[in-house]
Amino acid sequence: MDRPVVSIVGRPNVGKSTLFNRIVGRRVAITENNPGVTRDRIYEEAEWLNKYFTVIDTGGLEPFSEDKILSQIRRQAEIAIEMSDVILFVVDGLSGVTATDRDISNILRKSKKEVILVCNKIDTPKTPDDIYEFYELGIGEIIPVSAAQGLGIGDLLDEVVKYFPQNKNTEENENIIKVAVIGKPNAGKSSLINNILGEERVIVTDIPGTTRDAIDTYFTYGDNEFILIDTAGLRRKRSISEEVERYSVVRTLSAIERADICILVIDGEDGITEQDAKIAGYAYEKGKACVIAVNKWDIVEKEDRTYLEYERDIKNTLPFMMFSPIIFISAKTGKRVNKLFEIIKSVYSSYTKRVTTGVLNDIVNEAVILNQPPTDKGRRLKVFYATQIGIKPPKFLIFINDKKLMHFSYARYLENQIRNNFGFEGTPLQVEFRERE
Ligand code: GDP
Ligand code: GDP
Repeated sequence: MDRPVVSIVGRPNVGKSTLFNRIVGRRVAITENNPGVTRDRIYEEAEWLNKYFTVIDTGGLEPFSEDKILSQIRRQAEIAIEMSDVILFVVDGLSGVTATDRDISNILRKSKKEVILVCNKIDTPKTPDDIYEFYELGIGEIIPVSAAQGLGIGDLLDEVVKYFPQNKNTEENENIIKVAVIGKPNAGKSSLINNILGEERVIVTDIPGTTRDAIDTYFTYGDNEFILIDTAGLRRKRSISEEVERYSVVRTLSAIERADICILVIDGEDGITEQDAKIAGYAYEKGKACVIAVNKWDIVEKEDRTYLEYERDIKNTLPFMMFSPIIFISAKTGKRVNKLFEIIKSVYSSYTKRVTTGVLNDIVNEAVILNQPPTDKGRRLKVFYATQIGIKPPKFLIFINDKKLMHFSYARYLENQIRNNFGFEGTPLQVEFRERE
């Protein structure tokens, strides 16, 4: 994980989280006088001019409490110094220099890190003269931006990437697999995470997460690199009620959103339940690949065909996850956890697979010949051309003559032909139809 790290520091309300969102390319909700609302996670990958790096919004490390602001800011600045290659020191161009700004600059100036002074809230294209007062902070060049309007961000990032050290990796890394462990309370998520992160694996870093102390854990397993998302709540959990509260729906949703692959942990003692279906639904809606792990298999009373019954029940309850692999594990004994990782790797390769347009069209044409498209009032659906437009999950665009002629069942048929012919196992596919004359 040798990405350059850029962290954002500054006193509350200067616009750190707005800037963070801008840099990571998230749509910024303009929230007038609504401090901190846009902050949902503070650690993310970003890219500029094909250089990939990590951004940390130190303001999200913990919520500021009025009485401890100074010590908190100091600590955040120290974390930034320790963790990052480039520090963006954000000040508020509307309010001018404050004592806290001076405090922060004193700490930063003593570090040997590259610090860029970002003067935010300069919402007009022409830079007003009053930003020059910030030179007093002794940081050097001032870059005016408006995080809210998106002004000056490109110039800022041009500057940032200049400071990346040679020994850091800025190449796109599609190989790190981000995994979220989801499931209802007591299914065994914490136990699974603890098993995965047991001594034999190399845990390289704990990456601080959101305000509510999410921690993403980076580790290697065999030749692969993984990030387990939001392990904090689960690893340090003390009681079920604590989990119910902390690992709330919001937290689950946020973990799912950031993941490539979700491990849906099902309590083997209970079998599949409505609550599982609801959680699985979130992953499905977000287009994430899912591996279903039936846990506590060590204590499930079973006969020869028990697992077949489980599989049948799961497929009935989660029809939208027909294609997801199901594995029977024990987080407690570690049984088949290795196998789980083999499956995750193979699902990930489906999730990121690209196919060539030529072969794709051969498959689609053949599918159309094998199974004639539907007609309506004498008009027949025509399928012209297909192309893959994305991955994670694989997305396809198919040009047809008339959307009204495309029945759900025929769309499903085409999707299945693509899935089966290319071996897109375990991943959802998105197929979009577009009309063309
Ligand atoms: P943080 O506490 O430093 O993370 O600050 P926030 O990103 O939460 O922003 C604090 C407030 O400043 C919010 O009300 C934002 O809408 C506002 N703000 C952020 N960036 C800008 C900007 O470029 N221009 C203006 N006018 N307001 C901004
Ligand atoms: P979480 O709430 O989903 O994080 O679930 P936990 O990991 O805290 O597990 C809930 C309970 O199930 C604990 O008492 C665990 O010891 C137990 N448990 C978890 N996994 C297994 C397993 O594979 N086998 C058995 N027998 N018990 C398990």
